[in-house]
Amino acid sequence: MAGGHTDACNKENKWKRTLETDSICKICGSADETEFHAVIACTKSRALRSEIRAVWDIPEEIQFRDSGKDWLQNLLAQCNSEMRTKVLLLLWRCWYLRNNCVFNDGKETIAHSVAFLEQYAAETGEATLCLQTSDSGKMALGKSSSGSKDSSHHYASDMIQRNYMESSSTTLCRWIPPQEGWTKINCDASFVPGTGESSAGSIARDHRGFPFFSQTQVMGYSNCVEVAEAHAVLIGVKSFASLFRGPVIVETDCAALATELMSDKVIRAEAFPFIWDIKENLKVFAAYRVNWIKRDQNKIAHKLAAHARLNGDHFWLARVPEVISTDVVNEYRQFS
Ligand SMILES: [Zn+2]
Repeated sequence: MAGGHTDACNKENKWKRTLETDSICKICGSADETEFHAVIACTKSRALRSEIRAVWDIPEEIQFRDSGKDWLQNLLAQCNSEMRTKVLLLLWRCWYLRNNCVFNDGKETIAHSVAFLEQYAAETGEATLCLQTSDSGKMALGKSSSGSKDSSHHYASDMIQRNYMESSSTTLCRWIPPQEGWTKINCDASFVPGTGESSAGSIARDHRGFPFFSQTQVMGYSNCVEVAEAHAVLIGVKSFASLFRGPVIVETDCAALATELMSDKVIRAEAFPFIWDIKENLKVFAAYRVNWIKRDQNKIAHKLAAHARLNGDHFWLARVPEVISTDVVNEYRQFS
C-alpha cells in the first residue's frame, strides 16, 4: 500500500487503530469503506466467498456479519485451526481483489482467485504434511502465506515451491513458527537515544507463518530503550487481544523485559506500568508464554518499528505492508 499511492496512504492512515468510517467504498459506492466492508461486505468479497464456499469448509454465511469492533475475533472463534487459516487466506485475497479494483485495472476475476486460493491451500497443506511425516521428530514448519503485493501470485507460488526443514544450523538466527494451534506475536521498538523518540512494530503469525495482523505505531518519547520495548510489546499484545483469545507466544529481543514478564517480581521500576498492563492483557488469552529471542529472529517486527518512524500509524489485517513483504519472503528462504 505504501509508495506512490497518496490516496491509499491517506485512507490507510484513517483506519489505523480506530477504523474510522468516513470514506465511501470506491467499488460499490454504497457504504463506508471500513475494513469489514472491504473484505466481507463489498460485492467482490461476497462473490469470492460464495464461490470458495463450494470448495472450502468455511463458517456459515451468518457468521460473516458485522458484530462490532470484535467482528474478526467473533468470526475466528467459530473456526478450528485449518478453517481459521482458510478464512484469513480468504480475507487476504479479498483485500487483493479490492486493491486490484481501486489501484489497477480491476480485471482480476473471481474464478482466478478461487483457483489461486485452492492451489495455495492444497500446496501449503501438502508441504506441512510432508514435513510432519518425513521428519516426525522435529517441528513442522509449514510456510508463509503472508503478503499484500499485487504480484502476490508469483510471490506466493515462489514460496510454495519450497519444503522448509528445521535446520539446527539456522535455528538460532531466524524466526521460528509456533506449534499448530498457537500464535506467535513478535514486537519490537525503534528508539533514538539522543531524543527518546520511539515507535513500535508488531506482527502476529500462525504455525504456517500466516499473519493475523501487522502494525506500526508511533509512541512519542520514552525515557529509555527498556521502556520503549515494554511499550511496544503492550501495543502489540493489546491489538492482538482484540482479535484472538487462543494460546499465544510473545517474543521480544529485550532480555530483561522477557524475564520480567515471566516473573512474579518486577525489578525494573521504570517500565513497571507497561509490564503491569502487558500482564493484564495477557490474561485474556487461553495460555501465554514470553520468549526472549535474538534481534535476527525479530527482524520483521524491527522493520515494522522502523517503518512506523517514517510512515506513522498503520494496521494491516491478515497481511503485511508491501515494503516488508520481501523481508518476510527472505526470512522464509532461510528455511530451505
Ligand atoms: Zn463496497
